[in-house]
Amino acid sequence: MSKYVGPVCRLCRREGEKLYLKGSRCLSPKCPFDKAEPKDYAPGAHGKDAQFKRRGRGVKGGSDFARQLREKQKARRIYGVLEKQFERYYNQALRRRGLTGLNLLQILETRLDNVIFRLGYASSRAQARLLVTHGHFNVNGRRTDVPSYVLKPGDEVTVREGSRGREYFRQLVAAGEDRPAPSWLSRDFGTLSGQLVGLPPRHEIDAKLNEQLIVEFYSR
Ligand code: SF4
Repeated sequence: MSKYVGPVCRLCRREGEKLYLKGSRCLSPKCPFDKAEPKDYAPGAHGKDAQFKRRGRGVKGGSDFARQLREKQKARRIYGVLEKQFERYYNQALRRRGLTGLNLLQILETRLDNVIFRLGYASSRAQARLLVTHGHFNVNGRRTDVPSYVLKPGDEVTVREGSRGREYFRQLVAAGEDRPAPSWLSRDFGTLSGQLVGLPPRHEIDAKLNEQLIVEFYSR
């Protein structure tokens, strides 16, 4: 399976806003968006072209389609999901009861890598994905190294016994809780565990996304 290996900050520039893909660096002055003169045009050879912007391919999309496309791309980039898998999530969301847009966001939020990030056991979703693939977590007592694993309410996530002594996790416990867990997750920082209490309500999904545009993109 292919994955994006290019510069991560370029993705933020393409969307014209901070997507917080690099953990603590995104909150530091090193973030290119916080520099004195941030580049306010899309990356690439034609990023500055007036024609490129007019056709809606610049940072601020012009046509309806351009806005729908950008919103879908933004969601994919925030959650680190590839095109095919994102479409599969959309089809799953369509089959669920309720609002398709909210269903889609709930599927994305309950992925194992996102839950690890939201529990505060990783500083970014990319780091969470790495920790999961390296086999540091159990789900309901079983080693799970699949970042795309979608949790169900009641599922428990714990750092594996053998991994707790590692420097990274010891420092994590020593540093204490630096950000609160959302209400749909319960967390025990002492035992490095957490549980999915229920599906996240819309107001607790903090990614700045307009899910309706994504639904419109796939309903064309
Ligand atoms: Fe880079 Fe993070 Fe800033 Fe985005 S928010 S440009 S990933 S440092």
